[in-house]
Amino acid sequence: MFTVTPPEANRQSRPRVVIIGGGFGGLTLAKQLKNAPVDVLMLDKQNYHTFQPLLYQVAIGSIAADSIAFPIRRIFTKYDNFTFNMAEVKKINQESNTLDTNVGTIHYDYLVIATGSNTNFFGNSEIEHYAMPMKNIPEALNLRSLILQNLEKALVTADMREKFALMTFVVVGGGPTGVELCGALAEMRHLILSKDYHGLSKYDMRVYLVEGKDRLLAAMSPEASARAKKILTEGDVTIFNSAHVQSYDGFFLNIDNGKTIKTRTVLWAAGVKGEMPEGIAAGSIARGNRISVDEISRVKGSQNIFAIGDVASMVTEEYPNGHPGVAPAAIQQGETLGKNLVRLINNQPTEPFKYHDKGSLATIGRNEAVADLGKLHLKGFIAWVLWGLVHIMSLAGFANKGIVFFSWAINYFTKNTDNRLVVRYFKKDAPETVEDPQK
Ligand SMILES: Cc1cc2nc3c(=O)[nH]c(=O)nc-3n(C[C@H](O)[C@H](O)[C@H](O)COP(=O)(O)OP(=O)(O)OC[C@H]3O[C@@H](n4cnc5c(N)ncnc54)[C@H](O)[C@@H]3O)c2cc1C
Repeated sequence: MFTVTPPEANRQSRPRVVIIGGGFGGLTLAKQLKNAPVDVLMLDKQNYHTFQPLLYQVAIGSIAADSIAFPIRRIFTKYDNFTFNMAEVKKINQESNTLDTNVGTIHYDYLVIATGSNTNFFGNSEIEHYAMPMKNIPEALNLRSLILQNLEKALVTADMREKFALMTFVVVGGGPTGVELCGALAEMRHLILSKDYHGLSKYDMRVYLVEGKDRLLAAMSPEASARAKKILTEGDVTIFNSAHVQSYDGFFLNIDNGKTIKTRTVLWAAGVKGEMPEGIAAGSIARGNRISVDEISRVKGSQNIFAIGDVASMVTEEYPNGHPGVAPAAIQQGETLGKNLVRLINNQPTEPFKYHDKGSLATIGRNEAVADLGKLHLKGFIAWVLWGLVHIMSLAGFANKGIVFFSWAINYFTKNTDNRLVVRYFKKDAPETVEDPQK
């Protein structure tokens, strides 16, 4: 029997499109459906949208967490056909067109899965237990607390081995997130440590970057990779390419190049996998735990279920492994699906999705970024300004744009950051003392 929940009570007679996820894909789709003859119900386990590209700046204390989040309800104030419920979807029941959620059972006529991705630890439960992921705001705040707590502990610990482990930061994964985190840590080491942490030497703080591929920013041009390596190396980041982390027990990190690093902080930016509720047939799950969809984002084997963004795998000749897990792909899929849903409802022919790659950007540090815009490769200050403009313009909410802009301006001129706050203590489950196997 159906549980009558508040969203069910609000049901209208028009077809109901339920969107799971208020990320880049879900938001764009709901906007696209503004004047469509449907009722849109968005479900998200959080009541806000997160601008993930700036999570690393929250983790490093450069900007406030609230400035990269925006209330989903606020975005849709003027939408007559839109309803939002803060709800976590547990299971999709395809045979009854219903969802099991933590607020009850919800019926859909059309379902769009836009649940994004989560950190991939590649099945290593020990690393998952001890390393720090950074996929959402709570995780970025945990990381911020841990980095700052470890520096505070390093100031007062008499055990030199522990002190160095507390001041050693290892980033795993040399994609844009890993490179940006390393650049920010290197900047903290050079500009902030000796200024604000009297008693700690910047020469005792170490930053390592471990990347499995033979170059950083492997999805970008070789020019961008070379520039990232040069700038990070100049910032005293030790880079291991073609290297894979084998184990981490909360103190010793072992790499397959024979190195062992003693560290209390491992930041895991080495991969993602699709995140989805139960109820998708195993045969519809592709590489990277993504849902196989056809050229209009419809889940293979289904009539009325669609998937967009990071969770979707649309294999084309140009993208044999599906589209890249980036915001523009999710946004463009949301736009196209919005148009196609209306066409489907009106029994009109649909149009296949075509991805327009507008280029890639990554920042490496102060005044330093790389940009691949087709055949044009920019680096240094121009790329850094472009990176800043693109990110400010893409943030949701006028106030957020202003807050981030002014935070950056203040950080730039003071060469310091104001959000280095341990607002909530992060209790890391790690062994207190560890026997040194090298002794
Ligand atoms: C640290 C980091 C940096 C990044 N930097 C860049 C960058 O510089 N440029 C770029 O283009 N891309 C970047 N990305 C990737 C980009 O953020 C993603 O590609 C994009 O967010 C995907 O959009 P989406 O709509 O598929 O999912 P998301 O934006 O991840 O949204 C998914 C939503 O679904 C909700 N959800 C998940 N499961 C459930 C459930 N069961 N029930 C209810 N709600 C659920 C989540 O709460 C979330 O709000 C970055 C990602 C990260 C993590």
